[in-house]
Amino acid sequence: MNLVLFEPQELGQVSRAGDVPTGADASAGADALAGSDASARADAPAGWTRVEGHELTLRDRRAAHLLTVVRVVPGSRVRVGVLGGGLGYAEVVAVDGEGCVLRVHIERPPPPPLPVHLILAVPRPKVLLRTVAIAASFGVERIDLTNSWRVDKSYLGSPALSAEALGRAAREGAEQGATSRLPVLGVHRRLMSLLDAFPEKERASGRLCAIAHPGAARTLESAVAPGERRPLTLAVGPEGGWIAREVETFEQRGFTQVALGEAILRVEAAIAALLGQVQLLRRLRPYERDEP
Ligand code: SAH
Repeated sequence: MNLVLFEPQELGQVSRAGDVPTGADASAGADALAGSDASARADAPAGWTRVEGHELTLRDRRAAHLLTVVRVVPGSRVRVGVLGGGLGYAEVVAVDGEGCVLRVHIERPPPPPLPVHLILAVPRPKVLLRTVAIAASFGVERIDLTNSWRVDKSYLGSPALSAEALGRAAREGAEQGATSRLPVLGVHRRLMSLLDAFPEKERASGRLCAIAHPGAARTLESAVAPGERRPLTLAVGPEGGWIAREVETFEQRGFTQVALGEAILRVEAAIAALLGQVQLLRRLRPYERDEP
């Protein structure tokens, strides 16, 4: 945990609809599970409220982590954030066997999100939760989990797909990545209805759409040029991969098939490689077009 995250209410703030992404909120998560469109909230800029020295006592897993892993003592400073809100620090005022008293300062806006919408075919439950956490630690804006041909049907009934389990994984990922933004999460029983629901809208808004598929003729950087600033929609297949018909369907909807490199990676490694490559491409300067 590289960032201790608080609910807005813990700091005496009122949670505004739109500030707390689905991943942080079990009831909103249930909406997404029913297939509702939570994208309006995903697009809302995260607001943040300054906090100057709010004192609170922690006695939960966050306290246990601070006491046993970080080994805070009175006077220590730790990085903190508000879910869906700003970042800052807390001074440790006092500690005892079970908890600690913190004085919290929130003084800067949340980090910018990685403007990526991930479409992820559901892998086996343990991998699913790790993968959601990894994607959340990169600060992606949205994750839509979907059925696909090679998804084992038993996975769709797994408790790992509950709003609570997914929300917890997203939060752990955000704590790891030190971001106060959580991705909006959606679960879709049919790939086709997910694809029918948004691609036109997404392309109209100038997004680039790519499907990761081992062995594709093009590599990521030919679809996403260095210095590219447009937001991306990226689809990653299940452990067995996408079938040819699915790849064609994505292509018909404007997705470009891309490879990440020669090695065929497991889902969680593929997500980390894909998002790492996207971050690098966004950091690079655009190719010079008119070199002398
Ligand atoms: N045997 C499967 C492997 C699936 S790996 C196949 O050949 O398709 C799981 C998912 O990770 C893939 O569907 C793809 O989206 C992504 N992936 C893994 N390695 C990749 C690579 N080298 N290039 C592009 N995508 C990759």
